[in-house]
Amino acid sequence: MKYLYVLIFLSILISCNKQAQENKESLVGDYVYIDANDALHVRNNCISLRHVTNEFTGNTDMSVERIPIEECTRNMLQSTCSRCVTDSIYEHLLKTIEKQ
Ligand SMILES: [Zn+2]
Repeated sequence: MKYLYVLIFLSILISCNKQAQENKESLVGDYVYIDANDALHVRNNCISLRHVTNEFTGNTDMSVERIPIEECTRNMLQSTCSRCVTDSIYEHLLKTIEKQ
C-alpha cells in the first residue's frame, strides 16, 4: 500500500514538472521581434518595445522586425528586453539556436 502512495506522489511530481516545461515554451511564440533599438522581444505587445517617431512629421512607425524563431541568431541575443525576456526564456532561445 505504501508503494502505491509513493507511486501516486511521483506521478503527480512528474506531471507538474511537465506542465512547467510546457508553460515556459508557451511564453515563446513562433517569432521574436526586433525593435528600433535593436532589442529583442518575445512579445510584440511588450510595453518596452520601442518604435521610431519621425521628428518632422511626428508620426510613429509602429512596425517591428518579425523574425521566425528558427532564424534567430546568437548575435540577436546580445540585446534582449529585460521585461519580456526572462532568464528562462533566454536559456530556451539559446538552446533553440544551438540546436540549429
Ligand atoms: Zn519586451
